[in-house]
Amino acid sequence: MTPAHLSLASVPTPLVRAERLQRQLGCGPLWIKRDDLTGLELSGNKVRKLEFIAADALAAGCDTLVTEGTPQSNHCRATAAVCARLGLGCTLLLRPKAPAGPPLGNHLLDALFGAETREFSREEFAARREQIVAQVCDELRSAGRKPRWTPMGASEPLGCWGYMSAAAELNEQLRSAGVGECDVVVAVSSGATYAGLVLGRLLHGLGGLRVWAVPVSDDAAYHRESVSRLCEAVLAQFGLPVRFDAAELRFIDGFVGAGYAIPYAAAMDALGLLARLEGIVLDPVYTAKAFCALLDGIRRGALARERPAVFIHTGGIFSGFAWPEVVRDATG
Ligand SMILES: *Cc1c(COP(=O)(O)O)cnc(C)c1O
Repeated sequence: MTPAHLSLASVPTPLVRAERLQRQLGCGPLWIKRDDLTGLELSGNKVRKLEFIAADALAAGCDTLVTEGTPQSNHCRATAAVCARLGLGCTLLLRPKAPAGPPLGNHLLDALFGAETREFSREEFAARREQIVAQVCDELRSAGRKPRWTPMGASEPLGCWGYMSAAAELNEQLRSAGVGECDVVVAVSSGATYAGLVLGRLLHGLGGLRVWAVPVSDDAAYHRESVSRLCEAVLAQFGLPVRFDAAELRFIDGFVGAGYAIPYAAAMDALGLLARLEGIVLDPVYTAKAFCALLDGIRRGALARERPAVFIHTGGIFSGFAWPEVVRDATG
């Protein structure tokens, strides 16, 4: 039933206790699922999705992956690394344009992995996205390549399988650790990570996991709609024997701040706290905000009281090095 996938990520990723943090907060058991450790160049959540997308591309005889994101996109960087590893071409449609000066963080790695990058203003890309994608793919075909497109974050139905498997992996680790019911907290943006976890929970009968998504762009209403659509599309495309109801989706809203990739003090404090107490590095765009939501829930007594809490660290380390002044604010 599971579609073909390549083995690219280092899995299972560790599930670790955050005991010093737990003591400091005076709460119940806290765990961190280290999906930032799926591999150095491939680090983070995107590679679990790309294992399925790349297998599909190879099966269809494609020789180039084409995708989209910001210059600091972890997804674009992971795609570029996957392509380098598999000997595929990689074309990245970046928007907005990168800031002037030498490339930094993920953008630097895109270049190092040999990806071709094309930059667009936010407005131009938003207005002409479909035409731009079609035109770039046509151009590649005219040049004798066979492109395979995947949208932002590899959040297409096939990409959801990465976290459907990860849900089973996490459940197995929790069982070995003697954890039954628990709250799982993860950041949501393009949606396939959360959609995969929710579907994996249904498919594998993991009723003990309550999975909460923390929007780091838009709001809960937007993500309820977009994740539902993705879940329905997976069920339809793969004929899965589960029933999905949007009421299954749980969100912790209010932690986006002023917008996607715009940092704020409480999130950077959360990043600093985890670094000092556990030696684990979050990223300013996704995981710092999601972790901030978890800390807030713990401090209010809503999380890590009756049930253990599990934070899924979805990666993003390189973007912190593109915004050193932001991360410097988190140093205690
Ligand atoms: C992309 C990303 C997410 C969000 O995952 P989606 O599947 O896009 O919702 C979370 N954390 C990091 C570090 C990411 O790069």
